[in-house]
Amino acid sequence: MSKVHGLYLAGTARAATSNRTFAVDDPATGLRLAEVADATPEDGIAAVDAAAEAAPAWAALAPRARAVILGRVYATLQERREEFAALITAEMGKTLAEARAEVDYGSEFFRWFAETAPRLHLDGGSGLEPGGNYRILTSTRPVGICLLITPWNFPLAMAARKIAPALAAGCTVILKPAAQTPLTSLLLAELLTECGVPAGVVNVVPCTDAPAVIAAIMRDPRLRKLSFTGSTQVGRVLLEQAAHGVLRTSMELGGNAPLIVFDDADLEQAIAGSLVAKLRNGGQSCIAANRIYVQRGIAERFIAGFSAAMQSTRPGDGRLDDSDIGPLIDERQRDKVVSLVDDAVSKGATVVVAGGAGDGLMFAPTVLTDIPLDAALREEEIFGPVAAIYVFDDEAEVIDAANDTPYGLVSYVFTQNLNRALRVADALDTGMTGINRGVVSNAAAPFGGTKASGLGREGGAEGILEYLETKYVGIEL
Ligand code: NAP
Repeated sequence: MSKVHGLYLAGTARAATSNRTFAVDDPATGLRLAEVADATPEDGIAAVDAAAEAAPAWAALAPRARAVILGRVYATLQERREEFAALITAEMGKTLAEARAEVDYGSEFFRWFAETAPRLHLDGGSGLEPGGNYRILTSTRPVGICLLITPWNFPLAMAARKIAPALAAGCTVILKPAAQTPLTSLLLAELLTECGVPAGVVNVVPCTDAPAVIAAIMRDPRLRKLSFTGSTQVGRVLLEQAAHGVLRTSMELGGNAPLIVFDDADLEQAIAGSLVAKLRNGGQSCIAANRIYVQRGIAERFIAGFSAAMQSTRPGDGRLDDSDIGPLIDERQRDKVVSLVDDAVSKGATVVVAGGAGDGLMFAPTVLTDIPLDAALREEEIFGPVAAIYVFDDEAEVIDAANDTPYGLVSYVFTQNLNRALRVADALDTGMTGINRGVVSNAAAPFGGTKASGLGREGGAEGILEYLETKYVGIEL
């Protein structure tokens, strides 16, 4: 029988008030991994109670003491890297190599914000107001209780990117992981407790009725902040709810990343960078290259080399050494990818690598060119190992095409011309641009998008600001 996991409230695992559980299955094998307590709206409020009770002491703890705990979390995650990687692969499907990379990336947020915490409250300023009449004193303080909602594609990293800065700032949190991948979040919550995070500072409420549970938490006046990573569609609903409580919000939403290869690119570098930008996490990433634009002079050689590499990429169980990418997360996602490919092909796209759906949730890398103007995958996130390649002639044309989307998360540019690289990066309306590389994620850099891709930044110097309020005191001396 599979193990039953509780909710994580006030430092302990407990059953849902309904006593109901839901199943978590392995996407590679379809086998049941575990049953997890299914939080109700009442459990959501109990999580706010726990976070509220823990808040004053956590906010009052010396920043250095919070930093020591976060540093311990980094070290322990590194020690338990294999255990976390195996769990991520089991519930999400990515290969073990990618799961290890996710543990490294996720744990870096604890190290980065451990280093930030002791410097936090020194950032305030003090000085005379311009007329010389009185003094201005500013300082920062934790924003308060935070609701953190995460998607299934990076179960550890998306939680770490929010929990680490929140805790460094002195906030307490309620984490709602995606229903497909709650196990990593629950294991992380236990690890946090073992590393010295006091009971109630981090609470986890996995559930199957997210709209009801989240709405109940969002109506609670004690909540001060929402940080959400997920689709733009759900993000809009949550922004409306957040308006009611005038909550601070950080929104990491969907993308439609353009990747541009100019004639003067280093061909090997462009192919390698495009492969990682397309296939990271089996293409199930918000920063996946959704539209690959190749300049005409290099197009034939790029398409040949890139397609050969895509064709030799093997999907399979992420635990096996000969799997290069794992399965898609579930039937809904697989059907969506299949229908986006069918739609493009039925409207006239050329199939260069056929790939397509295989056994279960496996999907082999697929390459399409000659994409018609009305193909849905021009506008929609593919979220699978399908490359859509467009050929272009000049720089101005490709910048217009790349920016012609409501999204603005990330873009990629491949060129050996530094002037062009920086000029094009400036012209692309995205929060991030990778030049000659297909991965930009780094705990030390501000991750986030423009337009419908979101609000705010995670990581870097900016990430902590999302969890701080500024207080100003005017002093007459
Ligand atoms: P999703 O459907 O928006 O779900 C994200 C989270 O929101 C899940 O925990 C989900 O819970 C919850 N949720 C769904 N409906 C809700 C509602 N009405 N009220 C409150 N919560 C609700 O997104 P997804 O399919 O899991 O993830 C893929 C999306 O995330 C893509 O669009 C991707 O681009 C985006 N993403 C963005 C970033 C970034 O940093 N910008 C990073 C990763 C992913 P359930 O699981 O219970 O439905």
